[in-house]
Amino acid sequence: MIVQKAFKYRFFPTDAQAAQLAWTFGCARFVYNQALNYRSQAWQKQNKSIGYHDTALKLTGWKQEPEKAFLSEVSSVVLQQSLRNLDTAFTNFFKKRAQYPKFKSRRHRQSARYATNAFSFRDGLITLAKQSEPLDIVWSRPLPDDAKILNLTISRDTSGRYFVSILVETDVKALKKTKSEVGIDVGIKTLAATSEGEKIENPRPLVKCEKRLRILQRRLSRKVKESNNRKKARYRVARLHAKISDVRRNTHQQFTTKIIRENQAIFVEGLNVAGMLKHPNLAKHIGDAAFAEIFRELEYKARWYGRTYLPLERFFPSSKMCSSCGHLLEEMSLSIREWDCPACGAHHDRDINAAINIKKAGQYLLKLQKTTGSDARKVTPTRDERRRSA
Ligand SMILES: [Zn+2]
Repeated sequence: MIVQKAFKYRFFPTDAQAAQLAWTFGCARFVYNQALNYRSQAWQKQNKSIGYHDTALKLTGWKQEPEKAFLSEVSSVVLQQSLRNLDTAFTNFFKKRAQYPKFKSRRHRQSARYATNAFSFRDGLITLAKQSEPLDIVWSRPLPDDAKILNLTISRDTSGRYFVSILVETDVKALKKTKSEVGIDVGIKTLAATSEGEKIENPRPLVKCEKRLRILQRRLSRKVKESNNRKKARYRVARLHAKISDVRRNTHQQFTTKIIRENQAIFVEGLNVAGMLKHPNLAKHIGDAAFAEIFRELEYKARWYGRTYLPLERFFPSSKMCSSCGHLLEEMSLSIREWDCPACGAHHDRDINAAINIKKAGQYLLKLQKTTGSDARKVTPTRDERRRSA
C-alpha cells in the first residue's frame, strides 16, 4: 500500500543559512497574515468567500508594491505554500475540525514549506532554494529506499532548534494477521488502559518536567517586561516545553506502534474531542493527555498495516458497567480508581474494566458490520443515556 509518511530530522544551519531561513520564515508569516486579513475582511465586509487562487493573485500584486518588494528575495514557492496552508486552515474551519485561523506570531514556532521545485535532493544532500550549501542534517533513521519526496517543512521551535520534516510516498507492507483484539480506554489520570490489563501512565520524566515547568513559569511572570532576564527566563521555559513535547511524542508513538503490532482489531471510545476542546476546563487536561493524537496515530497506523480501527460513535457507560456481569452502577465519581461489583462481587480497576467493556462493544459491532455489511457504529442507547440526553 502506497502511503504518505513524514520523517523528521534535526539539522544545524550555518550562520548564513540561519539568517536566510529567518528571512524566509518572516516572509512566509507575513504573507500568511496578510492573506488571512484579506480573506477575513472580504468575508466580514462583503460576505465574499476568497479562495487560494484569489490570494495567489494578491501575492503577485504585493510583490510589485515597493514597500513589500522584500517578498521577491525568498523562494516564491514557499510563499505560495504559505497561502495553501492558510487555505487548508480555512477548510478545516469550515468542516468544523478546527477553530478560525489565527495570525502567526514571531514568538511561536516558525515554519516554511518547500515543494519539490524549491529544493534539490542529490546523493543524500538537501539544498534549499536561495541557499548555496546543503543542510547539515542528522539522519537519525534512514529514509525508505523507495521513498519519493513530496515536500519539506523547515521549522525552528521556540527553543531555537531547527528541524526538517520530509514528507515521502512509500510502499508499506501489511503486518501478518493475528487473532488478538483490544479495547482501549483513554483518560486524564491514566493516559491509556487496555482490556488486556496494561496501563500507560504519563512517564515519570514528564511529570518531573512539568513540575519544573511550573516553577520556571512562575519565575518568568516575576521578571520585568522587556528585560534581558525575562528573555532568558522565556528561553528556559521554551526549552523545557520542547523537551516535554518530545517525551510525550515518543510515549505516544511507542504505545500506538505496540498496540498495532500486537492486535488485529483496535476499539476505542469515540470521544468527541473537538467538542470537548471547547470546554475551557476540560480542554487543558485533554490537551495535555492528547487523546486526539493517540487516536490519530492508531487510525493511520491501522490503515497502513492492515488492521481494523473502530471508534465507537456513541458514548456508552463503559466506566459504570461491570464487565463480568453487566451490572450498571448509578453513579461513579472520577476519584474512584477501583471498585467491587455489588451484583457479582468482581473486583475492578476502573480504567481496565472500561477498556474491557469497550472491547466487548467493539467486537459486537464488528460482527454486526460483517453480517449486515453496514457501517454500524451505534450502540443502542441505554435507558440511562436516553435520560441524560433528554
Ligand atoms: Zn458484576
